[in-house]
Amino acid sequence: MAIKNEYLQNLFDYLKAHTEPQPEFFQAVQEVFETLSPVVDRRPDLVKAGIFEQLVEPDRVITFRVNWTDDQGKVHFNRGYRVQFNNAIGPYKGGCRFHPSVNLSILKFLGFEQIFKNSLTGLPMGGGKGGADFDPRGKSDAEVMRFCQSFMSELWKYIGPDTDVPAGDIGVGSREVGYMFGMYKKLQGEFTGTITGKSLYSGGSLARTEATGFGLCYYTDEMLKANGSGFEGKKVIVSGSGNVATYANRKATELGGKVIAMSDSDGYIYDPNGIDYKVIKQIKEVERKRISEYVNLVPGAEYHPGCKGIWTIPCDIALPCATQNEIDLTGAQALIKNGVQAVSEGANMPTTLEATRAFQEAGVLFGPAKAANAGGVATSGLEMTQNSMRLSWSFDEVDEKLHGIMKNIYAATANTAAEYGMAGNLVAGANIAGFLKVAEAMKWQGCAF
Ligand code: NDP
Repeated sequence: MAIKNEYLQNLFDYLKAHTEPQPEFFQAVQEVFETLSPVVDRRPDLVKAGIFEQLVEPDRVITFRVNWTDDQGKVHFNRGYRVQFNNAIGPYKGGCRFHPSVNLSILKFLGFEQIFKNSLTGLPMGGGKGGADFDPRGKSDAEVMRFCQSFMSELWKYIGPDTDVPAGDIGVGSREVGYMFGMYKKLQGEFTGTITGKSLYSGGSLARTEATGFGLCYYTDEMLKANGSGFEGKKVIVSGSGNVATYANRKATELGGKVIAMSDSDGYIYDPNGIDYKVIKQIKEVERKRISEYVNLVPGAEYHPGCKGIWTIPCDIALPCATQNEIDLTGAQALIKNGVQAVSEGANMPTTLEATRAFQEAGVLFGPAKAANAGGVATSGLEMTQNSMRLSWSFDEVDEKLHGIMKNIYAATANTAAEYGMAGNLVAGANIAGFLKVAEAMKWQGCAF
């Protein structure tokens, strides 16, 4: 697919010519523009209101220096960011990523995606994203704490429960969220739900930890059921072994699937008997070791160095849950050749544009990240609600709401795709459904939104 509409193609060309090279951000915009042509045709009012132009430019980007001291007393510097992309339907909302690869292109892509994803949840949340090029790997707890406190000592000025509500992402788990929340509370002098993903002792929501992985499987299950199938008896590959991957494994297994391969950034494991998520959690989260450790604990399992080979293992369902662009055309072709039935994105943009097209052309069911991994931010929205109400819901209550939200998102994406003449194209359905709500809000608020 290409950007078929001349107006959107010109806008995309202009964006690229007037922005320093930002490949991940351009990729995300291209994917959305490729599917919005019928909206441009049907809604000249949105073109007149300049909605498309405004949507690809963040409201603001904040960058700042983060100084911190290591355990030997040496001072280090990293670069911190917050991209406040769009608050037409609610406060900016999106996680923070700490990883050496973090740059403005990656955070703008993630913030842009977040606008549509948050819109699809049906909850009042705008789009934002932040982070730093800091690598928590190999750092002591005290070093991570000093970094997080320093990061927050700058960020706190720009966030608040009705302004911008950060959360975790890659490299930012419960430990990092805790250190940031503690610092925010101290500087602001208030206990509010400004950050989500908090511990249960400090206003966190039950089921938030599980939400993205569970939500991914709920969405995928809906997609499979609509096509006369389900997880039962299916071989599943889940890439990654972090938060999303661990709980995708658990829910896929509970729904009757067998997870036969998982990975980290060094390599992948294959276990034909099925991988127990509890073993992965112990290795990666508790002991903070490498996934290769799995073969020392589970007889019959194999470890292979390198990440890409995971897609050459025959499977029925592939759930990429690690990072952006992890399935390229070669990976997609291997999966298709081996008869994959469904691919659903747990990570953000884990499939390249070419790979996505290959899946769609081969008739593979394809669940796009904006819809399929929206369960995490949806449950963050539920955490914000509980904080505002000064209430805590039970695990089952939150899980039931999450399940309902994911069913609604599947219905919205499938119905919108059909309504716009692209039945079965959930990428188009997610982009159009997510876009329309935000666009209506922007238009309604006038150009001062
Ligand atoms: P984590 O940091 O918890 O885990 C990331 C995992 O991916 C780690 O196991 C990491 O391995 C692995 N990894 C990184 N790069 C590669 C690679 N090239 N190949 C294979 N494995 C790799 O992050 P999350 O689970 O929170 O996030 C994963 C993805 O899901 C991201 O794209 C994130 O934006 C997205 N997401 C997360 C949400 C959440 O609620 N957490 C919500 C929505 C989307 P290693 O241990 O070696 O670093």
